[in-house]
Amino acid sequence: MSRRADQPGGVLTAPVNKIIPFSAVDGFGNRTAVFLQGCNQNCLYCHNPETIHLCVGCGTCVDACPAGALSWAGEEPAVGAADAGCTAAGDSVISSAGSGVSVASPSDVSGTSSAGVRRVAYDFDRCVNCDTCIKVCPNDASPKIRNLTPEELFDQVKPFFPFIDGITTSGGECGLYLEFLTEFYRLVKGAGKTTYMDTNGQISLAGREEFLAVTDKTMIDLKAGTDEDHRRLTGRDLGPVTDNIRLTAELGKLYEIRTVVVPDVADSRKTVELGASLIAPYPEVRYKLIKFRKYGVRENFSQTPEPSDELMESLREIAWKKGVKEVVIT
Ligand code: SF4
Ligand code: SF4
Repeated sequence: MSRRADQPGGVLTAPVNKIIPFSAVDGFGNRTAVFLQGCNQNCLYCHNPETIHLCVGCGTCVDACPAGALSWAGEEPAVGAADAGCTAAGDSVISSAGSGVSVASPSDVSGTSSAGVRRVAYDFDRCVNCDTCIKVCPNDASPKIRNLTPEELFDQVKPFFPFIDGITTSGGECGLYLEFLTEFYRLVKGAGKTTYMDTNGQISLAGREEFLAVTDKTMIDLKAGTDEDHRRLTGRDLGPVTDNIRLTAELGKLYEIRTVVVPDVADSRKTVELGASLIAPYPEVRYKLIKFRKYGVRENFSQTPEPSDELMESLREIAWKKGVKEVVIT
């Protein structure tokens, strides 16, 4: 049965989409990157749309899997939308309080139907990673999810510790699982490794002292420079993002802000002007400008042109002129 961590007897878990053992692009040094499932934004140019929603148990992928790695695991009574994940574009997976979502046992996935929760079981050992399930899913979800406790996730990443500087959690939006992350980060820091959070900045970190105490750095996306552009691009307000940038910069816990540059979709110059003015007082914070690339985006964005080198350099100039010390283009 699906349970939330704040219910009596609840088990604190989070849906893990993927673990990349070694990454050089997710914060300082060599890091293990953990991707959690579910997002509270629905960006037009999302590069991992299969991480946006939790599975709703439609079953489309079960028959499509060529390796027999997916099967029905039965049906359980629905326990409420909070456990079911995103129900529509931009809806939050969980409450804004940021508690973890707990569903079933590891290697299972839960969803809701009108009758209840229909579960698709995922067999990690049988999976050949063809991604057919992701291609056929009509819900921007993935059945390849393992619901792990903080301790179980720690056991998964621990073998990489001799080779890495630390852990980065991403998504989806890992900020939806702050309670889970607090426990997981505590374990990681206890083992002498650093903890970085890659976030869209929508979940407020104000007042989350317990979480911030075990978080070394955040990396926050700044998608647009005006509220109008931000709402159109992501479905959400810009204000929480800039609030979190200010807060984490003041606390010395902001590693970088990131802007994906997509020509003709948002006014990138306004975005960079805003971002640069926010971080310029903090010389240790860098600005990463990311060229939009078509890989992984939805079909309707696959024809969108990539930005020119000249545009990227002109944006770097804007950030430099505002006083940002380090501007990285990737
Ligand atoms: S990626 Fe794995 S679970 Fe998905 S269809 Fe392929 S074999 Fe099946
Ligand atoms: S992962 Fe997608 S296709 Fe598979 S059961 Fe869930 S919602 Fe349906």
